[in-house]
Parts: sequence; C-alpha cells; structure tokens
Amino acid sequence: MFAAPSKFFASIVCSAMFAICTPHAAAAQSLETSACSASPASATAPYQRQVANIDRELGVQSDYASAHDLSPIPEATQLVIAGRDIRGRPVKLDPHAAVALKEMIVAAEAQGVTLQIVSGYRSADYQAGLLRDKLRHGMSMQSALRINAPPGYSEHQSGCAVDLTTPHSKAADASFARTRAYAWLTKHAAEYGFRLSYPPGNSHGIEFEPWHWRYVIGAPPAR
Ligand SMILES: [Zn+2]
Repeated sequence: MFAAPSKFFASIVCSAMFAICTPHAAAAQSLETSACSASPASATAPYQRQVANIDRELGVQSDYASAHDLSPIPEATQLVIAGRDIRGRPVKLDPHAAVALKEMIVAAEAQGVTLQIVSGYRSADYQAGLLRDKLRHGMSMQSALRINAPPGYSEHQSGCAVDLTTPHSKAADASFARTRAYAWLTKHAAEYGFRLSYPPGNSHGIEFEPWHWRYVIGAPPAR
C-alpha cells in the first residue's frame, strides 16, 4: 500500500523522461487531471449554478466568494476509504491524497507523533448542513463563514483536504497549534504533499485552522 506514492511519482518521471514509456502514461495522466493537482479542473457551469442556489437559500451573500478570494471547488469524482475518523467512521479521500496521508501518518507515528483524522471528503450538501447547524444555534452568518467555507468553496469537497488531530487535543480547535503533532506537521507535511490551507490572516477570511491540510500533487515525494 505504502509503495504506491513511489509508483505515482515514478510514473511522472517516467513519462517526462521517456516518451515511449506508455505503460505509465495512464497513471501520469490521472495525476495531472486529479482533483488534487496544483491546477485542478474548474467547476462546471451547472455545478456553479447548483452551488449558487444552495448558497442563496442559506443566505450567503452572492459576492461573498469573490470578495474572499474563493473559487468554486468541484466535488470529488474519485474517492476511496482513507481510514477511520476519531469516531470510527470511514473517511473518504481522493485516491492520491489517501495514499499520501497514510504514508504521512505512518512516518509521524514512527517519530512518536500520532495523527488522527477528524474529517476528509465532505459534499457541498454536507457543508450546507454544517452552516445550517451553526445558524440554528444562533451564530451569525459572518461568524459561521469564518469557520466553514460556503458550500461549493470548501476544499473538503475535492477529497484532497483533511482535518487532523492528535490524542488529548480537542478536534478542530485552535489549541491544536500548540501540540507536538502540529509542530511535526509544520516541519514534515510538505514532504508528503500536504499544505496548511488557512494560516493566520489568510485572504479567505477563514480563521487560522492548524488542523486543516490540503494534499497537492507535485510537492516533493516523501523521503
Ligand atoms: Zn477542514
């Protein structure tokens, strides 16, 4: 299982160096067109209309996304079970992200750091439900959108983003930034292709999320 990233990266090298290396071309192509590539496909017009409808119904201002440097993120088309979340529920991720995450978790564990999954793929409808819950509990839309991106704009829809925690740390809480797990991630996550999406003061108006990491194909392979 953990040999897979090497195979994927080998496919890129192979196709780049040897034009006749066709057995790996399909794998390389799937990397380039993956939702986790550095330049993923844009959301289709029907999907953008669907997202606009969901957000209008929720009460998200129509110019919110453009004002916060947010682009529509297509729903994942390929998902695999990447593991279990802290409640034991299966977590789905893009196949490439799932392999990289498993390798990162194993590497962290080998260095005495336990990484646990809080959340992986979430659909636009699920994201809408998260926002509705916050509004129902009296939170303003403005405050809710500092915690959850509007439906259609969440990286979780791509299947490439994951929320992580560690034992004895409150899930999806700023205190995660003070854990050994976060220190390990800031040092090593990039080696596995994961990047912190929402650092302090990010342009999306989303609060600092030390737990939220997005896998991007093209980052250096794990050592
Ligand atoms: Zn997240």
